[in-house]
This record gives sequence, structure tokens and C-alpha cells, in this order.
Amino acid sequence: PVIRIGVVSIFPEYLEPMRMALLGKAIDRGILALDTYDLRDWTHDVHRAVDDSPYGGGPGMVMKPTVWGPCLDEVCPDDALLVVPTPAGVPFTQATAQQWSRESHIVFACGRYEGIDQRVFDDAAKRVRVQEVSLGDFVLIGGEVAVMAMVEATVRLIDGVLGNKNSHQQDSFSNGLLEGPSYTRPPTWRGLDVPPVLLGGDHAKQDRWRTEQSLARTRERRPDLLPPDLLPPPDTDDTAS
Ligand code: SAM
Repeated sequence: PVIRIGVVSIFPEYLEPMRMALLGKAIDRGILALDTYDLRDWTHDVHRAVDDSPYGGGPGMVMKPTVWGPCLDEVCPDDALLVVPTPAGVPFTQATAQQWSRESHIVFACGRYEGIDQRVFDDAAKRVRVQEVSLGDFVLIGGEVAVMAMVEATVRLIDGVLGNKNSHQQDSFSNGLLEGPSYTRPPTWRGLDVPPVLLGGDHAKQDRWRTEQSLARTRERRPDLLPPDLLPPPDTDDTAS
């Protein structure tokens, strides 16, 4: 395969949708190899316990290093990238997806409860690259949904995964801006018209229109993404006096 992805979870069935649709096709075509592992296979007790109460008190449970350590020793080779989804990580962005799409093996460690004993990653970092990464500023119940989102964003950038190679080059963020609105037939629907410029044949004009729309939308919804020279001029209207 071009990329091998391993995911460790206590709910490996949760990850099965990753074998559907375009990711499933990438697996069939031999581009993606997906290995899912049940963390409980590395437990040693009859209860198959993966968690314990936190040192220093506090609510919830913490996942045990004595289970995660041997599991990662086995499923995460030295040349893989180990990714730990956590709301306390650095934000995952399109740039992260682009970097990861050039990796040959990524292993994701899905936490549950209050997360995983930190020593698991301090120990793993002695031999592999470890990245603690957040899907966004909100808290999920477990790492699985975050991993599915990160894997989709990453794998769709690999050649041969999308039908049309150009389609991801026009997406939001690929040039740093949001993509503008899209339209298809019919030209008028429920009294709403497709912008006339898109119905004509002037491709240069259409490209300019798309750039304008992209800038306008980014200015309105995500001004933080705009380079300073494209920001609206500062408000000089001195209403305070
Ligand atoms: N105690 C942790 C904290 O406050 O940082 C939250 C743990 S959360 C309830 C349980 C698991 O969900 C985490 O170990 C992580 O795998 C996953 N998770 C939750 N929110 C996430 C996010 N924004 N990005 C990535 N993973 C997340």
C-alpha cells in the first residue's frame, strides 16, 4: 500500500465505516491498508480492564500504561508516526493532512474516559515520532470520531483516491481561503437563479468571480484566515467621540 493506517481502540467496530465509500475503494485498490486493533487484547486480567482511577484525585478514569505500552510496542513500528488525538493537542488542519498524506505508516491511539497515562507517549517518543493532535476546540467522548475525520482528510489527498485529481486542489484551505458557493442544474429553482456569470462561457470571468466569492466568504466567516493585505481597512469611523 501507499499508506498503512493502524487504529487502536476499545471499540474497533466503531471504525468499520472507514471501510466504506472512497476509503473502502482505496483499500480495494491497494492504496490504503487499514488495521484496527482491540486494546483489550493486551489486557492480562479476567476483567480485561483498561482503566484505573487517576493519581492526584479528580473525576473519571485514566487508561493504563501497562496495557497501552505493550500494545504500541507491537503495533507501532519505529518508522511509523504515532498520533494521539486529544483536545489538549495542537490543532489538526489541512496542512497537517497534507504532511500526513506523505507518511507511509501512521498509528492512531484512541483514548476514552479522561484519556491515556502520559507516560505511554513519553515512553513511545524514545523510539517513534509522536504528535498529540486536536480535531477542534470541543470535547468528544472518545478518539474514534476524531481519527475518522483525520484519516478521511489525509487519505483523500493521496493520488488515486479521488476520482478527479483536481477536485481537492480547489477545496477550501488548499489556497488558504474558503471555497465559494457551488451550483448545478436547474438554472432557476424555487425562484432562485444561478449567478448568470456561471451560465456563460467566459472561463476567465468565471475564475475571477470564484476568487471574489471566495474572498468575500472568507472575509465574512473566517477573517482569521486572510493575509493582512486582504483584510478590510481598519474602521476609521470614529463613533466613540
Ligand atoms: N480529559 C481530557 C481533556 O480534558 O483534555 C478529555 C478526554 S475526552 C473525554 C476522551 C478522549 O476523546 C480523548 O482521550 C481523545 O482521544 C478524544 N477526544 C476528545 N476530544 C477530542 C478532540 N477535540 N480532538 C481529538 N480527540 C479528542
